[in-house]
Amino acid sequence: MSAPPLPESGPPESGPPESGPAEPALFPVFLRLSGERVLVVGGGGAAVAKIRLLLSCGAEIRAVGEAPCGDLRALADGGAVTLHRRPFEPADLLDARLCIAALDDPAEVVAAARAAGVLINTVDRPGLSDFIVPAIVDRAPITVAIGTGGAAPALARDLRSRVEAAIPPGYSAVAALCRDWRGRVAEVLPEPNTRRRFWDAVIDGPEATAALDGDRAEADRLIGARLNAARHGGSPPPQGRASLVGAGPGDPELLTLRALRVLKRADVVLYDALVEPSVLDLARRDARRIDVGKRCGRHAMSQAAINRLILEHTRRGAHVVRLKGGDPFIFGRGGEELECLRAAGVPVEVVPGITAACAAAARLGIPLTHRDIARELRLVTGHGSDGAVPGLDWRALAAGGTIAAYMASRTFPNVAARLMQAGLSGTTPAVAVENASRPNERHLFGTLAGLPAALAKQGFDGPTLVLIGRVVGLAHREAAPERQAA
Ligand code: SAH
Repeated sequence: MSAPPLPESGPPESGPPESGPAEPALFPVFLRLSGERVLVVGGGGAAVAKIRLLLSCGAEIRAVGEAPCGDLRALADGGAVTLHRRPFEPADLLDARLCIAALDDPAEVVAAARAAGVLINTVDRPGLSDFIVPAIVDRAPITVAIGTGGAAPALARDLRSRVEAAIPPGYSAVAALCRDWRGRVAEVLPEPNTRRRFWDAVIDGPEATAALDGDRAEADRLIGARLNAARHGGSPPPQGRASLVGAGPGDPELLTLRALRVLKRADVVLYDALVEPSVLDLARRDARRIDVGKRCGRHAMSQAAINRLILEHTRRGAHVVRLKGGDPFIFGRGGEELECLRAAGVPVEVVPGITAACAAAARLGIPLTHRDIARELRLVTGHGSDGAVPGLDWRALAAGGTIAAYMASRTFPNVAARLMQAGLSGTTPAVAVENASRPNERHLFGTLAGLPAALAKQGFDGPTLVLIGRVVGLAHREAAPERQAA
């Protein structure tokens, strides 16, 4: 039963090739390979990558290669693979279910496999392959396979990273929860439509969230309660909860996967002025959005009023997301909100975010710590709760290391003067970064002595952070050309 020969279309010499008739689609399957023999011909990195994948499916690997690489030899030495260090022979195909050819000249292997009726995949040569190995997202027991019919493995990899971002790694736990309750739910709810609605509610409900958070006991308790209620034709009362979520410095790509997941499930989002609209756009479409923005010197809503608002919504059963710029626990008053929610007995989680100092440093290629020149990093606020320069330990700050001054744009002249008084050299490199990671980012390099005047001239009035220390001298200034006020 040999497969028909497939024409191999080589890369075009120049320009796009003539578009021929569309090829029939490939038939997607998931093969059970546990205990089955697979022949892999070729001893390089591509062969090893396929071998690892096959081993994870329980396949028994016979590898044939004249010059096996170190990784392959190590796999063989560990007993995971049977390795033959010699050229391919047709007899190698004996008992094989599949064959993978990962070598420069696969013609002989392809011909022999087809003669023997063994399905073959030739790495990077779709025209010489009977099957294609898809890009996969592994959320065992769930596998998402992505194929482009061999047209563009790079595209499959790109799609894979998007799907990976969309399916949290903890999804395996949700799958396990569903699997373990499937039989019991089918018993209690024999009517298919009722059962479908039940499962939709579980997957969209606190049960899935608890499983994703690794709290299987809570997930079991919640699903048990829902099943009990469903048996009597009802649904359990909604349980309010809150998440204090770091929105990062602005660029939505700098959100964590967990922040994204929580946003997608929020009923109410309370956000402050530092949160970019493009981040807020990622919240569930029908989530209620409330601006509680605090801007420098202008309190849109008092902290007490924000706390009351969160409590009010959670008590009505909502999942409230308190979305804060950067990290919620770095100059974000997240600690106060957490205390208030805990005191009220509201279940609350904290999702960290990328803080402005990390984002600004990354943009400019500044290592915040460095083995030789900065063994410590201090995050300080240049702005006390009363608007004045706060009482910091200036001597300790001036002793070296890196300083990241938050909320410093207006008070920076004072901060710089105090640091110099305390002994930090006026020639110490410093950089002010406004709107780090956002489309309107600007920055200004200088020295501790010179930057205050330059900054006053530029008028940075967006969120601005100042980094001070020898590490600033390591910035990739060409990679980030100065973008100054027009
Ligand atoms: N929790 C936030 C900090 C809130 S305090 C965090 O972890 O980043 C507000 C200060 O943060 C601003 O005055 C500014 O100094 C800094 N900041 C926040 N986002 C910033 C950004 N995108 N660029 C530069 N500075 C930023």
